[in-house]
This record gives sequence, C-alpha cells and structure tokens, in this order.
Amino acid sequence: MTQTKQRRALIIGGSLGGLFTATTLRAIGWDVHIFERSAHDLDSRGGGVVLQADVLAAFRFAGIDYDESHGVPSGDRIYLGAGDAVLSRQHMPQTQTSWNSLYSAMNRSLPPELTSRAERFMRYEQHGDEVVAYFESGRVERADLLIGADGPKSSLRAQVLPGVMPTYAGYVAWRGLVPETSLSTRAVEMLQGTFAFQHDGETMMLEYMVPGEDGSIEVGKRRWNWVWYRKVSPGADLQSLLTDRNGKAKTTSLYPGAVQDAYLSEMRHASKLLAPTFQDLVEATAEPFVQAILDMRVPQMVFGRALVVGDAASIPRPHTAGSTAKAAANALSLAHALSQGENDIDAALQAWEFDQLLAARQMTEWGMRAGDRIMGIPRTTAAIFPRQP
Ligand SMILES: Cc1cc2nc3c(=O)[nH]c(=O)nc-3n(C[C@H](O)[C@H](O)[C@H](O)COP(=O)(O)OP(=O)(O)OC[C@H]3O[C@@H](n4cnc5c(N)ncnc54)[C@H](O)[C@@H]3O)c2cc1C
Repeated sequence: MTQTKQRRALIIGGSLGGLFTATTLRAIGWDVHIFERSAHDLDSRGGGVVLQADVLAAFRFAGIDYDESHGVPSGDRIYLGAGDAVLSRQHMPQTQTSWNSLYSAMNRSLPPELTSRAERFMRYEQHGDEVVAYFESGRVERADLLIGADGPKSSLRAQVLPGVMPTYAGYVAWRGLVPETSLSTRAVEMLQGTFAFQHDGETMMLEYMVPGEDGSIEVGKRRWNWVWYRKVSPGADLQSLLTDRNGKAKTTSLYPGAVQDAYLSEMRHASKLLAPTFQDLVEATAEPFVQAILDMRVPQMVFGRALVVGDAASIPRPHTAGSTAKAAANALSLAHALSQGENDIDAALQAWEFDQLLAARQMTEWGMRAGDRIMGIPRTTAAIFPRQP
C-alpha cells in the first residue's frame, strides 16, 4: 500500500501572519516549522485590533478556542467635536481585541518545538520541487514550501522582488493605551461602550476599548486604546521623529518609552485642540508611541515553491482595520487551496495567488483613498503603484 508523504512548510516570521499560516496548515496535516528572528516571545506593547470575521474563521478552521467573547464589544460609533459635542451617533456594533490576545491564543495552540527562535532567514534556492532555506546561524532547511510571513521589511520579498518597498503615506499614527481605571470620569462617561472619532479634515483621533495586557476582558482590567493620525513631512522631519531617545534612527515605528521628550511634549501640547475627552486620554497615557503609515503591495505572491503572506505581501492603511484580517485570510485560503490541490501544489498556489492579489488590491486601494481623504492629502494610487496591473 502506498502512503502519501507528509508535506512540509517552512514559515519565516512568528508574528500573527506566521502563526495563522502554521495553525491552518497544521489543520490540513502539513508538517510546519516557524523560524523567527527574535530570540524571545514577541511582546506587542502595541495595542488594539478590530476582531474581524476572517480571524474567527481561521481560528475555527485551526481548532483554536477563540470567539467574540474574548474581545470587548462596542455599540455606537460617535463623532466628537469641540467641547465634546456629539456631532453624530450611529449604531455599529463590533468587537475589539488586542494583538497580544490573538498572538497568545495561537502561540499556545502550537507545540513549542515547532518554533525556532533567534533564526534569521537569509535566502533560499529551489531545486526541482524542493526549497532550501538558509539562515544566518548557518542552519539549512528543506521543504515543499517556503512561506515568507516576515512582515513589511520581508527578507524573502527582498530576494524575489528587490524593487518593492513600502512607501511613506505622509502621516503617522500616534498611539496610546490607558488602563481602564486611569481615565477621568468625564471621559469614561463619554466613551463607555463606543467607538469614538474626531476628524478635523487633516487629522483624525479615534478610540476603542481593548482587553488588558494579559488578555483580560474583566471590567476594570481592560484598556482604552487610541490612535491619532497626524501629518509629518517625509525626509528630515519624519526621520527625526523616528529617531529614538538614544539617538538610534528607526525606519517605521518607535516602541512605548522610545519617543524623544521634545516630540512627546509637542504632541501633548497639540492635543489641547482636541475634544476634552480625547485630551484626557492623551493626558492619561504614560508612554505614547508612534508609527509611520506605509503603503505596499506586491504584484506577485508566488515564486515557484516560495510565497509571501500578510504584511510581507501588502500593507493596507490602518483605516481598513484589515492587516490582521488579511493575514488570516491569506493563511486560511492557502490551507483550503492546498488541501484541495494535494496532488498539484503548483496549480493550487496559482489559484490561491489570483484571489489573494485581487483582495489585496481592493483593500490597499480602498485604504489609500480613505486615508488620503481623511488626511486631506491629494494623491492617486497610480502614483504609488505605477507598474502594477
Ligand atoms: C511585536 C509586534 C507587535 C504588533 N502589534 C500590533 C498591534 O498592536 N496592532 C496592530 O494592528 N498590529 C500590530 N502588529 C502588526 C501586525 O502583526 C501585522 O500588521 C499583521 O498582523 C500581519 O502580520 P505579519 O505576521 O504579516 O507581519 P508582522 O507582524 O510584521 O511580523 C513579521 C515577523 O517576521 C519576523 N521576521 C522579519 N524578518 C525575518 C527574518 N529575516 N527571519 C526571521 N523572522 C523574521 C519579525 O520579527 C516578525 O515577528 C505588530 C507586529 C509585531 C511584530
């Protein structure tokens, strides 16, 4: 009797994209192994993620016990104006969770021996139907498939598409997290149970509640999560903002505690023009942090037996609330395609790629239109993706 050989996938990157891919491919019987350059468990110190249907579908498929009850619900979307006037209110229920909560749920579900940490992927070769991956440590691994879930600065993408790099969108997101019990009474009364915004034509502030750092959704242990989009000129101004308090220049973001005092003071001062509720939120934030808003989309996701997923393949603007959902959708549809095309992996990958490119295009373009409109930036997507279909 002939037995089908178990297929093997090497997954580069152990953040959400890598974990979605590992858990869903494992569910169809693949042998998976994650290689993450960071030596330790990743610690977000980041914040909120809107819990989307694609994420829940990937969890269900992978048999991970995680549903909307792990998030924090909001009911009304409100738009605030000067003096905390409520300019509009719409009932739009949704659920918010946190990066940490999703990361822990998937990490817990994978046997630890399936992840190798402190392993930086360098390059790969393909020999027939086999991929050979080379790591900085000298390690060499072979498999049927190599998956680059290695984020916006993907090393796998750099090898196969050296000209494709993220582009700065012209504005940054200041972000902050405030323990539930540390906010003023007036702000709590205004924000309780809402997803709140303030928009003045060139900036946008928004807030929603997320689980506590340990994933707790118990009242009193959750966190207020805010994001304030503000323009910063490209070049010297952006570079200076993204230089941390030790003088180290970063390219895309600074962690909580890393922003220089001068920029924190400027941001806190500027927040005095926000609605009082949002002023209180900024005031109550111990360590605001900042990230540049980027655009990126690949014209091709499959390169023989190597492919890119998640933020390595496309970076939608955060207004889509779609980065994590897109990583989940990439992984789930890959598992579906491979389980149906067991005997012809290459054909399965081609079909998968077509759908994923289309979805990425729709999401990135919608996000760019929304972001540019929100920030009052005149620009067309053609200027950013000139060579793409
Ligand atoms: C620590 C962390 C915290 C985050 N917090 C938030 C948040 O609070 N809210 C939010 O909306 N989004 C957050 N994000 C981004 C979010 O995870 C992504 O936008 C989305 O989920 C898609 O994830 P991804 O796995 O494709 O990319 P990423 O999350 O960027 O992960 C890429 C991973 O690949 C690893 N990697 C990169 N190069 C190599 C290499 N050569 N070899 C091996 N490993 C490599 C990186 O260390 C990283 O773990 C965070 C990302 C990280 C890494």
